[in-house]
Amino acid sequence: MTVSPALIPDFIQAVTAAIDANAEEVTLLDQAIGDGDHVTNLQRGLTTLGGLAPELSAMDWSAALQKIGMSLMSSMGGASGALFGTLFLAMSKAMRNQAMELATLAEALTQGVEAVKLRGKADLGDKTLLDVLIPVAATLKQAATESWPLPQVLENIPRVAAAGVEATRDLPAGKGRASFLGERARGHLDAGAKTSQLIIQAITRVLEDATTA
Ligand code: ADP
Ligand code: MG
Repeated sequence: MTVSPALIPDFIQAVTAAIDANAEEVTLLDQAIGDGDHVTNLQRGLTTLGGLAPELSAMDWSAALQKIGMSLMSSMGGASGALFGTLFLAMSKAMRNQAMELATLAEALTQGVEAVKLRGKADLGDKTLLDVLIPVAATLKQAATESWPLPQVLENIPRVAAAGVEATRDLPAGKGRASFLGERARGHLDAGAKTSQLIIQAITRVLEDATTA
């Protein structure tokens, strides 16, 4: 299956709805171990992307991802603005002259995750959004290598993302503001991991609808 950039407005709308619907919960998470602004940072970014949606849908994937990354970096603020920006810019580079398919997406997300790791000096187990993004990228790679049928991909990706966010609960915080709390961060989910999971779940649903319609 090849995914057209024409779906970008649907992705943005679905992600915005998912973040809005869970805003209170995520704010409570970020208030417990961060400074409480993660959802409003993300909502600011999504509002900006919403305004750009028609323009983005007319671009190729590489150009659209570049614009998304730069817009998030300048509109969001916070650690997460720089990190999501880095993610999309690295994905843009990997998608140059490529159609969006399972194998190219897997490679682009892998490159994006590597860039986020470098930028934030963080890795799996630091109680960040990487605890969701790393296993999701690895699963996509496996799916591409083993040529999983699409329904298997769409079923497994949200499951892996949910397991990733749940895994942050019992971790001490290693990076970002929460790291000041260290051990005391145990018992709380990481806010950025939660929103990353919500984003991945929303994107998967749009793809599901687009392929079963
Ligand atoms: P800030 O921490 O600047 O207030 P946000 O509240 O928007 O920014 O985002 C916080 C989220 O960013 C955290 O929940 C965590 O998932 C993620 N994060 C923070 N620092 C890092 C890092 N070094 N690497 C990866 N993710 C990080
Ligand atoms: Mg914050």
